[in-house]
Amino acid sequence: MARFVVTGGSGFVGSHVCDALIARGDEVVCIDNLLTGRRENIDQIVGHERFTFIEADVVNGLPVDGPVDVVMHLASPASPPEYLRMPFETLDVSSIGTRKALDLALEHDARFFLASTSEVYGDPLVHPQREDYWGNVNPIGPRSVYDEAKRFSETLTMAYHRYHGLSVGIARIFNTYGPRLRPADGRVVSNFLVQAMNNMPITVYGDGLQTRSFCYVSDEVRGLIALADSAETGPINVGNPGEFTMLELAEIVIEITRSRSEIVFEPLPTDDPTRRKPDISLAQSLLGWAPEVELREGLRHTYESYLSQQCHLGS
Ligand code: NAD
Ligand code: UDP
Repeated sequence: MARFVVTGGSGFVGSHVCDALIARGDEVVCIDNLLTGRRENIDQIVGHERFTFIEADVVNGLPVDGPVDVVMHLASPASPPEYLRMPFETLDVSSIGTRKALDLALEHDARFFLASTSEVYGDPLVHPQREDYWGNVNPIGPRSVYDEAKRFSETLTMAYHRYHGLSVGIARIFNTYGPRLRPADGRVVSNFLVQAMNNMPITVYGDGLQTRSFCYVSDEVRGLIALADSAETGPINVGNPGEFTMLELAEIVIEITRSRSEIVFEPLPTDDPTRRKPDISLAQSLLGWAPEVELREGLRHTYESYLSQQCHLGS
């Protein structure tokens, strides 16, 4: 049994990480300021003897007593509309917040895990994206508050590794979806599902030919924990290489939900990446990890979870 500190643990991905760690017998201290997360995401484990929730902003430090074996740092807004609305919170959590999380790991000689992102590749000119590609990021564009903050987070993590000898693991997470993706968080899967369920127009941005590769959350979390458990430094891409256009995604969502929705086209956000697909050779060879859930199956599970929540726009 190990004692994990999970920042952002009441968010979408973080809450599944907490569930998985508790299920296998670890102890978890979840730190979250509920900026974009929800308390109900952790309802099922609050009260468990091996789970503690601390409501706190990691920018002010991580108020953890007792031993720490692993720090998993997932705190950060992740949905584009949310990080665009909260640029300074986003910059702070990945700079000051990452520093505070690294300091906690250093103090305890713990392993440090960073939830980085495919956004470090920006609008990639190399396809699929391998970890040795340095990316194509607009440093002054609106998305840079997230992209550059995560790039800085990776830099800071590598500095602690090089200068302090801290054991670190950096995961580059590609678009992840599944139950607990907040219906109103503005990401494409939640938007399309809620719109389809309400027979409202499905809002495809641009011409809909841009691509993304979607990973179901149980696969993603298995990969993240495999990296946290390993001694690998990375960065390592953790995502599903299946690549879909947004038009294809809209059609699959309409089919699964048997919706009467029509597709409408809206302006493409500034600097929206054109293509995105992970090369996962490193995750396969170093972690023995590969995704198992294909898009239709994962969307069906997500749809069922939304049905049970009676999802409407704005919820
Ligand atoms: P999310 O918004 O659901 O979860 C983020 C959590 O961090 C929330 O619970 C939020 O309240 C918390 N948080 C934010 N700032 C904080 C702070 N200063 N102090 C304490 N808690 C704070 O997003 P998610 O999709 O679960 O993403 C989790 C992590 O994975 C993020 O670091 C994100 O950048 C990364 N990631 C996610 C995806 C994806 O597709 N879901 C893709 C790439 C990277
Ligand atoms: N998108 C869309 N309609 C929406 C929301 C998003 O067409 O209602 C597009 C968006 O422009 C992007 C892709 O879907 O090309 C994925 O967007 P998301 O915000 O989920 O994540 P990103 O990969 O851009 O961070």
